[in-house]
Amino acid sequence: MSNEGIKKLLKGIDVVPSRELGQNFLIDDSFSKWIVDQLDPQPEDVIIEIGPGTGALSQHLIGRCRKLILIEKDRRLVDHLREKFADAAEQVEILNEDAINFDKRPLFVVGPVKLIGNLPYSAATPIMRNFLEQPTPVSRAVLMLQKEVAERIVAVPSTKAFGKLGLRMQAEWQVDLVRTAGPDLFHPRPKVDSSIIVLAPREAGTLPYFSKRFFDELTNRGFAQRRKLLKKNLGLKTEVWNELAAKLEVSETARAEELSLRQWVDLTNDLDDHPVLDLPEDSSGEVFDVVDAQDEVVKQATRGEVHREGWRHRAVHIFVLNKKGDLYLQQRSALKDRHPGQWDSSAAGHLDAGEDYGQAAVRELYEELMVKPKAKEGEAGLQELARIEACEETGWEFVRLYSCEVSGKIRTHGREIACGAYFPIDLVRLWIKKQPEDFAPGFIECFGCFEGVG
Ligand code: SAM
Repeated sequence: MSNEGIKKLLKGIDVVPSRELGQNFLIDDSFSKWIVDQLDPQPEDVIIEIGPGTGALSQHLIGRCRKLILIEKDRRLVDHLREKFADAAEQVEILNEDAINFDKRPLFVVGPVKLIGNLPYSAATPIMRNFLEQPTPVSRAVLMLQKEVAERIVAVPSTKAFGKLGLRMQAEWQVDLVRTAGPDLFHPRPKVDSSIIVLAPREAGTLPYFSKRFFDELTNRGFAQRRKLLKKNLGLKTEVWNELAAKLEVSETARAEELSLRQWVDLTNDLDDHPVLDLPEDSSGEVFDVVDAQDEVVKQATRGEVHREGWRHRAVHIFVLNKKGDLYLQQRSALKDRHPGQWDSSAAGHLDAGEDYGQAAVRELYEELMVKPKAKEGEAGLQELARIEACEETGWEFVRLYSCEVSGKIRTHGREIACGAYFPIDLVRLWIKKQPEDFAPGFIECFGCFEGVG
């Protein structure tokens, strides 16, 4: 569409471009198509577009994917889009919502989604945070941003642009800046250039596993005052920092921006007190109680032996609920020997030799989520919901299922758990029904018991 064309269209629908909503509309059709091509749309894809405006990008997606979901804040543009795409109503869903607060969790039910948007300058960072922070169903994204913001996202160490935004995005995504465009391609003309970035999930194993939450806390502190020495910003004693600096191979007088992503991740693990870091990486030597068909202890054996021989043993699953009654689900780390990458109970694990079920539940909660059950004086805080007999389906485990609320903030570590979040029960039920393969089988069994009890 030409400059005159878009002016006429906006006049016809009574829209004066709003600076507050970052409304700079694309007017070069071949450029719009080129942007869409970077998303590599496939017939089976579900695609989300943020801020479709008058449909400059959307029109090149129609007919090239299974479903297109448009999220637009401006009611007047939503009305226009509904009319414009009326013939494709089966394929296109148009939502009049604010992308900053959009609840992305229901998208897990439709499987991985692709994301595209010429984002409003005014809200690009909170929109990216909402859609791209883990856990997210987004598997690929193409975003147009103010050039300076795009440059911060792809920045390298020891440059002015390098900081928390780049570190956080690069920690989870492979990010490429693929093209920059001047103001002539938009109406009204913005005051700045724009750049397009393409994001794909970072490949497993390209960084050591770490606690994202602690990494965020540490980078917040590290970059609090860019000119200050990192040691000062982190409040570390000279001898502690000097030892770390030598290990990381950075100068003792380094500032936050001089450390690479890899060095930040190593520093995060060096300073972290997460209990997972005290556990051996290879768990096959852990010792369990082996039990008989009545769940009575008969002997002890190593984890490797118990699983190899199919001997009966004991395990716990814990469902952590918040005040709203939503259930915390964890996504198992890609490193796990069983069910890697699948969604699972909030915490779960085997009983150690000599331990009882309740003790194991409290220990697993702390080891995996770094929290304790919320308990009134003299109470355990854990509620036993169900007992599951050992059978082939449970992998010959006697399982006790507990629920609780927790005090304190959940903090996971990537070695055990890729990410986690609270999900409404109705959504979990629907998700299991539509995509059971996303879940560890033990969790599905426990969820069935939980539903039976509730
Ligand atoms: N995609 C269109 C194009 O390329 O011509 C419009 C892009 S324009 C830069 C940004 C669009 O985002 C506008 O349509 C604006 O109304 C919409 N928008 C602004 N803030 C939003 C928000 N918080 N949530 C959803 N849409 C928003």
